[in-house]
Amino acid sequence: MKLERTTVPFGFAGATAGAAICQIIRSSEPLSRAEIGRLTGLSKSTVSLHVERLLKLGLVIETTTSSGKRRRLEFNHQAGCVIAIDLGATSVDVALCDLDANIKDHQSQELLVTDGPEKVMASIMATIDSILASNSVRSDQLYGIGMGIPGPVEFSTGFPISPPIMPGWHKYPLREILSKRYRCVVYIDNDVNLMAVGEMKYGAGVGVPNQLFVKVGSGIGAGIILAGTLYRGEDGSAGDIGHISLKGREELCPCGNKGCLETIASGRALAKLGTKLANDGECYPLKTILEGGGEITAKDIADLADKGELLCLSLIRMSGEAIGEVLAGLINFINPSLIVMGGGLAGFGGRWITTIKEVVYRKSTPLATKQLDIRFSQLKNKAGVVGAAALVVDEVFSMNRVTEMVNQEG
Ligand SMILES: [Zn+2]
Repeated sequence: MKLERTTVPFGFAGATAGAAICQIIRSSEPLSRAEIGRLTGLSKSTVSLHVERLLKLGLVIETTTSSGKRRRLEFNHQAGCVIAIDLGATSVDVALCDLDANIKDHQSQELLVTDGPEKVMASIMATIDSILASNSVRSDQLYGIGMGIPGPVEFSTGFPISPPIMPGWHKYPLREILSKRYRCVVYIDNDVNLMAVGEMKYGAGVGVPNQLFVKVGSGIGAGIILAGTLYRGEDGSAGDIGHISLKGREELCPCGNKGCLETIASGRALAKLGTKLANDGECYPLKTILEGGGEITAKDIADLADKGELLCLSLIRMSGEAIGEVLAGLINFINPSLIVMGGGLAGFGGRWITTIKEVVYRKSTPLATKQLDIRFSQLKNKAGVVGAAALVVDEVFSMNRVTEMVNQEG
């Protein structure tokens, strides 16, 4: 990434200058001291002083060009590591990442969030311990932990707030438990928010300032990126689009309302409708699955739709239409230039996304869709852990925190 002089915050002095230099080195190609001076407007001696401190802290390393003449500085991604956790309803992914959110080690595990926080957290911490031990990570090398959970989170406290699919987790002190045990900073966020961050920083949405990440799996949610920053809303519930209700729909939602998007278009909704078709004997291929002792999943319906089964085609189309309708409203409201589709249903590809696009372009205003692109997630099932790692690294290397580190060193 090429930095312009105007992108650098001015007016810093003392340790703040060191933090600003660290930010610049982190977000660009390797730079010489002279280039840093030009970008920051700081004197040669000030740049040198702070660069020496950053080198001593191990946050920055010096490389030489092939001729060996020009020395350049780059951020040391291997200076430490972070743990990233993506908790789903029925599984958890725990990853060890470097300071550029590259996954160095990774373990997935089946579990049920409905088993409650004590049991689930004990199992997650055992996995963290095993990853740290097998990679010989010392406690001073662990810079932080980021964790996504499938429910609303009050970001300032890290508390889950009445998460509908996680009974017993309301205000459970996740952050305190993890930070006490691992002696590092911990950030908890909603899983879809973290996926949005992951795609923006390292996936399908790199370089796009205004974008939505929409996850359609067993539930439906969105992460909102505005001006390059995740928008959480006042209490952390922004993007909860699964409970936007559609006009004229009567399906009852567990939230107490009728016609919520999640009850019509999610994987859970499709499986329920498919099971009903099978039980009523209206769809022979689905009935066969049920009679064979299997459970009908959204994927069965998508597979049959691909083979041209008419009722399954109409279910996939109905899901796409409902999602398209809600997205059209969001697009008119927020005017993003990109929507990244993720979650299990995004794997269905063709027909589903075509329907979503048709409805979006038909129902949004022409100006709102002038630059709009709809893409599939690039990070797929790694979006959550990559986003969790990216969030922690950004927080750990925020201006304030690096200023503190430089102060302690100076
Ligand atoms: Zn609802």
